[in-house]
Amino acid sequence: MLGAGLAGCVTALALARKGCDVDLIDEATTPISQASLHNEGKLHLGYVYAADDSRRTCPRMIEGALSFLPILSKITGVPSTSFARSQPFLYGVPADSQKSPDEIAAHFDRVDRAIADFRREQEIDSGVGDPAPHRQLATDEVARWFDLDLISAAFATDERSVDTVEIADLVAACVYAEPLIVLRLGTTVKTAEAAPGKGWDVICSSSSGTERSRYTAVVNALWADRLRLDAEIGLHPGRSWLLRYKAALTLDAPDTASTVKTPSVTLIVGPYGDFVNHGGGRFYLSWYPVCKLAETRGADPRPLLDIAHVKNAGSIASASLGALARYMPSLSDLAPALDRMRVGGGVIAAWGETDIDDPASGLHERHEIGPTRHGSWVTLDTGKYCTAPLYALRAADLVLEALA
Ligand SMILES: Cc1cc2nc3c(=O)[nH]c(=O)nc-3n(C[C@H](O)[C@H](O)[C@H](O)COP(=O)(O)OP(=O)(O)OC[C@H]3O[C@@H](n4cnc5c(N)ncnc54)[C@H](O)[C@@H]3O)c2cc1C
Repeated sequence: MLGAGLAGCVTALALARKGCDVDLIDEATTPISQASLHNEGKLHLGYVYAADDSRRTCPRMIEGALSFLPILSKITGVPSTSFARSQPFLYGVPADSQKSPDEIAAHFDRVDRAIADFRREQEIDSGVGDPAPHRQLATDEVARWFDLDLISAAFATDERSVDTVEIADLVAACVYAEPLIVLRLGTTVKTAEAAPGKGWDVICSSSSGTERSRYTAVVNALWADRLRLDAEIGLHPGRSWLLRYKAALTLDAPDTASTVKTPSVTLIVGPYGDFVNHGGGRFYLSWYPVCKLAETRGADPRPLLDIAHVKNAGSIASASLGALARYMPSLSDLAPALDRMRVGGGVIAAWGETDIDDPASGLHERHEIGPTRHGSWVTLDTGKYCTAPLYALRAADLVLEALA
């Protein structure tokens, strides 16, 4: 199992619980320390994909989001209702959005219908009740949170974020406790080769040098480095992709809990930003033009990570908060806590050639995702955090199929 993000850890746990011995390899020193930790934790229902004319992304997100907590509940033994969830998201539509309020309202209606259809067809119980349909806010409600000169419409949804730190801690504890999983941390996967006969040789480097290990089956869940490693064994996607490094800010400031009441907000459609109110003075924020630090159309993420490591936390925090507070003036109440904001971030891997400021960008869609099997090599395109547990279980099934 290559990569101990949320996808890799859940795959490893699913396989171990079916009786498989699993080596779980990661170059980091703890499991779930990269994109699966430093993300917004939004369990997408598809509202944000208003520019996906194929309309195929929304059903993928619904399936992933509604199965997210039940799968993690089964894996960790923690009831779905015990996981922390943020305040529900409002969606604000800036005046220069790539889609008009009417187009967005029509899209939101389709999302609600897709959720209802999914619930009718699938027995999945999200564990926390069905999401309520969206509603468009009246002008006085919009004015409560947004600057009416900049925002032309807003919608309330029942979409929420989970606490990525809580989930990382719970899932990592299960990995540490699982006797059939051998965790090989601090170990970088360099390359892989088909082994003579059957299986794969995986070549890694660590502080003890270079090591070659033979495995009957491999799951490549390296996320940022997945396409590079696939190419090493001759697997090429035959399409364009973009790796982007996106920074994000988190703030733990219980002293602000009673003053900052701004709900969770996403601005769509275009290069805007998000604010998550987790409750209790815990916040997440990100302003895309400031936080998108680097991108590459190559398969090697190292140059991105090198650029991202020199990020200036102070200027990212003040520029992001400043931009978000123009649209949501109440956010300026967080200014006194600016110096306590922590900057993290990670790579977003997606099919496409141009960035989201292009209305025709492939990044506005996210449906060609999930695991695929090539003999006993499974490559896992996690797609999103919210689809990680579902696709991890499917990746584990593909391994069992390969071993059968
Ligand atoms: C700022 C930001 C916000 C986001 N917001 C959301 C959101 O709100 N909702 C949502 O659904 N998705 C969101 N995403 C996307 C989401 O974070 C990812 O889709 C998801 O976390 C990927 O999970 P993963 O387990 O595949 O990858 P990761 O968590 O990155 O795990 C991959 C692991 O592989 C390891 N690794 C990589 N290369 C090597 C190598 N060569 N050798 C050894 N180990 C290696 C890494 O150390 C890492 O631990 C966001 C992403 C970012 C960056």
